[in-house]
Amino acid sequence: MTGEERATGPSEHAPGADEQAPGADDHAPTPVQASVRGRRALDALLDLQDLDTAISQLEHRRAALPERRQLARVVAALRGVEDRVSEVEASRAALVERQEALESEIAAATARREVLEKRMYAARGTPARELQAMDEEIHHLRERQGQLEDAELEVMVALEPLDSARAALQAQSAALGTEAAQLRAALAEAEAQIDAELAIQRVARTAAADAVPEDLRSRYDVLRARLGGTGAARLAGNRCSGCHLELPSMEVDRIRHLAPGTVVTCEQCGRILVPTSSAPAGSSTSRSSPPD
Ligand SMILES: [Zn+2]
Repeated sequence: MTGEERATGPSEHAPGADEQAPGADDHAPTPVQASVRGRRALDALLDLQDLDTAISQLEHRRAALPERRQLARVVAALRGVEDRVSEVEASRAALVERQEALESEIAAATARREVLEKRMYAARGTPARELQAMDEEIHHLRERQGQLEDAELEVMVALEPLDSARAALQAQSAALGTEAAQLRAALAEAEAQIDAELAIQRVARTAAADAVPEDLRSRYDVLRARLGGTGAARLAGNRCSGCHLELPSMEVDRIRHLAPGTVVTCEQCGRILVPTSSAPAGSSTSRSSPPD
């Protein structure tokens, strides 16, 4: 990764790797042609890096869309509310079951009392002892009925707050459901917009990659994978745009006096370093189609 070489293709520095038949390329390039070609290769590499950076930013933006975070929060809240609804409904169901049991006991006691009362008023020659027994049972059934009705009242009182809690939770759940649906739609729209931009950038990237000689491109790909997505950097002034560190003036001077198109790496971060006339990204004249 140290040292310099021309970015004009494998034949420049690796004669054995020349894949073309001798003379397939009109004629051997003159030094001037070679340096122009090398310069072009480096400009194409910067274009490629700019597109890769733009694509990474879009991918990051897609992953970090605020709608996605909001949706996750709303869905979690909705799940919490639904859990509470289930809890309230379970408590409610137990009380309702108790209420039904009480009601059937009340009905049974009432029925039995009515039978006894009818029998008492209808029976003329019934022995006094039997009448007294019936009277006692009726009295006892009345008492029992009163107790059961009190118990039922307690259950109904306990049901009231559960009913209103359930209604409130159901309203909350409906509101959160609406919010989630809106966020899902907004997220899908934002994703579709970014995807459309990404599709354009990826097409441009393919074209840009084709313009970079293969050996330079594979070197760039290795560096890019290792160095957080940036394999090629600009030398603007004294500063490497990859690591943002200043290079020693002697080194900058040396680099700037190398033949145009010479491939140099930053001695601090190891990225391919392309000297620019302090031109920021995008203003290079070599770019044929701006990615907008
Ligand atoms: Zn650097």
